[in-house]
Amino acid sequence: MSFVSKNELDYWLEHVRIYANNGTVADYIPALANQSPEISAAAFYSVDGECPSAGQSNYKFTIQSVSKVFILALALIQHGEEAVFNRVGKEPSSDPFYSIRKLELESPGKPLNPMINAGALAVTNMIRGRHSEEMVGEILDFMRRLCQDDSVTYDRDVAESEFQTAFLNRSLAYFMKQNGIITGSVEELLDVYTKQCAIEMNVKQLARIGAVFANDGRDPDTNVPLIPATVARICKTFMVTCGMYDNSGTFAINVGIPAKSGVSGAILGVIKNEGGLAVFGPSLDKKGNSVVGIELLEKLTQEKKWSIY
Ligand code: GLU
Repeated sequence: MSFVSKNELDYWLEHVRIYANNGTVADYIPALANQSPEISAAAFYSVDGECPSAGQSNYKFTIQSVSKVFILALALIQHGEEAVFNRVGKEPSSDPFYSIRKLELESPGKPLNPMINAGALAVTNMIRGRHSEEMVGEILDFMRRLCQDDSVTYDRDVAESEFQTAFLNRSLAYFMKQNGIITGSVEELLDVYTKQCAIEMNVKQLARIGAVFANDGRDPDTNVPLIPATVARICKTFMVTCGMYDNSGTFAINVGIPAKSGVSGAILGVIKNEGGLAVFGPSLDKKGNSVVGIELLEKLTQEKKWSIY
């Protein structure tokens, strides 16, 4: 039996949908501005393979910064801890995800952690491949294995829209290239990064990946290892310390589970040994977190006493 019933998800989603009025849809990536704030969905994928869901659970959205967790996992698998943490730090930043100022303070320009844009760009730069197409191929293969779904791909319009307007991410990347943190073509790196952010899935697929992390890296249906347990543990720890933008401390007190947010309105939560919980609602609060998602996570985790603290 899954630990959350469909009735519970239906009840809480219905209860918190109204909070969409308290936020705004991200528009700095032009294609994201088209998302309807009314859409909401939630799914729980248990470590034993059940998946109750509520709302528009077949609706596909781009995962945006939630991808940072998966790219970190892939880079750790491909290169190991030492190589990855030579390029990126392990400490929270308390600045917005796009901030450039701490790059100048850190010596020699190493980004503070892999959950902010600078850190994610440095990690993406490490993904294997002779050119951007091969790197995107590696990323999609990995995502398809985690979802057990070969149809997983990225939304071309959203990727292109972000690529054309990613001036700040380009600045971060060029700054890091100057300091030797990033190698090769910045334009190719931006091509990979914007495509990984534009990977699309529905809440059930995203919750399934959460279940892999909840199950210490093993597939929730077959128990086959997909991610080494150490890598899963490192990723979940970053989700706790840096996963909810510069609201991660408040979220740790009010919710208290590893979680990662994206500006599309997606949030992925991981409940150890229980399952993955994915929530989607494109209306965002001032820190960039889905208002519906935060409300649902608060209500459900408090009721279930899921806080790890
Ligand atoms: N593609 C977005 C960016 O780099 C992701 C941001 C996010 O979801 O936090 O700006």
